[in-house]
Amino acid sequence: MAGPTLARRHLESRRLTRSHAFRRARPNSAIVCCRTGIVLERKDRPPTPPDIKLLLRREAGFGCCRCGFPFIQYHHIIEYSDEQHFRPEDMMTLCPNCHSIATMGAMPEAAQREYKRHPRNIRRRFAEGMLHVDQDYCAISIGDNQFVGDGSFVQVDGQSLLALHLSDEGELEISLALHDQNDNLLLLIENNEWITGDPSPWDIEFKYRYLKLRRRRRDIALELDARQNPIEIRADLWKSGQNIKLGPRELLINGVVNEFRMHHLCLVAMSVSIDTELEIAQIQPDPRFGSGILISWPDVPERLRRGRDAWLQLKSRSGTSP
Ligand SMILES: [Zn+2]
Repeated sequence: MAGPTLARRHLESRRLTRSHAFRRARPNSAIVCCRTGIVLERKDRPPTPPDIKLLLRREAGFGCCRCGFPFIQYHHIIEYSDEQHFRPEDMMTLCPNCHSIATMGAMPEAAQREYKRHPRNIRRRFAEGMLHVDQDYCAISIGDNQFVGDGSFVQVDGQSLLALHLSDEGELEISLALHDQNDNLLLLIENNEWITGDPSPWDIEFKYRYLKLRRRRRDIALELDARQNPIEIRADLWKSGQNIKLGPRELLINGVVNEFRMHHLCLVAMSVSIDTELEIAQIQPDPRFGSGILISWPDVPERLRRGRDAWLQLKSRSGTSP
């Protein structure tokens, strides 16, 4: 899984230009949005411990306590600046929009605690989260191909732009790095945690096993539909002058590299990888396994079934728990 490496690489490599919507308030403190003042990234505190994160996500039904959206942040009800703590009873999960309402003082503490006591997903009987799936593996349709695996599906210059992971609880976890054409990082999500990115320019739509992110008045940046298997994904990804459009009926590559064709295949533990210096696109195996498997079969359900079997065998041989 690209996991923490994905965030670190992007945070290290991000350029904070004048035209960019981010500014650093003071060295080693926080990055805030120039327009809204919303804190986008904290540098002045250690990260929330993973066991506390899991506890908070479980109690909230794997979403925002207030609205249920699956991409969340960890909010201190008792402000960290007032008291340095990671007490779960004084923390909660909120999506970036609800988090900005809370941090700007428009959600009183009593209301925050009420949302924490009665999270929306729990009230609506989605205790396993809005992105909980029944299948025991990740499979997505891209063009007329299927990708089966767990981890990065698209990389540019060694950086993962889109990765999927199935948690032990059966929750689909998405890691996504969205850049604009000038290579500014717009949004970074890591395993459903909204790490960096101003939420205000985004129109967000979601329901059970479905979500859509659209930049206002612009095209869809990410659409994920997990109501069927394979999962359907639409995404418009940019990195280093390279554009990659993913959809259930298209895989379009334009920019530095614009020649790449692949049809009627199931790729197991493999990703599309583009190198903008060498100007090549290729299929690359998941480094955890050293090799991937290509399955060519005319009938899609049978191709997918063979892909799933190959994936589970690969995991079992490598000692990685399914
Ligand atoms: Zn929310």
